[in-house]
Amino acid sequence: MERYSHLSVIGEGSFGRALLVKCKSTQEKYVLKEIQLPKNQSKLEEARREAILLSKMKHPNIVAFREAFEADGLLCIFMEYCSGGDLLQRIQRQKNTQFGVENILKWFAQMCAGAQHIHDKRVLHRDLKSKNIFLTDDGSVKLGDFGSACVLNSSRAHAQAYVGTPYYVAPEIWDSKPYNNKSDVWSLGCVLYELCTLKHPFQASSWKSLILKVCRGAYPPLPDHLPYELQYLIRHMFKMNPKDRPSVRTILTSHRVSKLLCSHL
Ligand code: ADP
Ligand code: MG
Repeated sequence: MERYSHLSVIGEGSFGRALLVKCKSTQEKYVLKEIQLPKNQSKLEEARREAILLSKMKHPNIVAFREAFEADGLLCIFMEYCSGGDLLQRIQRQKNTQFGVENILKWFAQMCAGAQHIHDKRVLHRDLKSKNIFLTDDGSVKLGDFGSACVLNSSRAHAQAYVGTPYYVAPEIWDSKPYNNKSDVWSLGCVLYELCTLKHPFQASSWKSLILKVCRGAYPPLPDHLPYELQYLIRHMFKMNPKDRPSVRTILTSHRVSKLLCSHL
């Protein structure tokens, strides 16, 4: 800890705090996520999983892991600082001005590239949402917050405990089916829709009506000015049966939208 100086608190949650820190020797800024270490063994493993899974990732569109250690009852995870804040804040700053199509395609292509790296390592993120996607000062996006991530087909992925944020949760999860890579695709579809409209695709005033909307796949149509490929892609990402949704690899390589996306990577 002596190697870093503390600059400010940038986030606070049930887990603990996220701090902006500076490495004294290099003057580089990092984010320190401090997680209170639980006494309970299975909760303890869960907390450690975030550091372990993040440390396995190495991709320009995933928040880079620096180091992690345990001290004074805290798990300290040091990672790359994304100075542009999160994508939800960025969307809210737009008020009612829509993002340009080029911008939407660029960010979405980068998110898919990050998600493909995660899925290639047989890891599921399970909490993809605009608040967990971060912007760098050069305007690219990075996936972060591996606090809900798990290994594909692990007992975790089958555990029924609902994770995620209700607006972004795929219909199969409400149906108590295991979480799979296509559930992450659903969540990415929600973020893409948000970029296209500045609104959630599935929104309601109660949990019950939200779940009903998600499970019917009923979302307001996209504005007409968007390219047909994007409308077509969103429709496929919101297929009820996870098997009918494209994988992120398919989106980037062989979907009707791939050419549009790959020119941005
Ligand atoms: P949780 O959602 O579990 O509370 P996060 O990892 O999403 O934890 O971090 C909480 C908040 O801290 C984020 O919403 C964001 O505002 C800030 N934050 C986290 N990681 C970074 C980062 N790498 N760069 C910039 N801000 C970050
Ligand atoms: Mg988060």
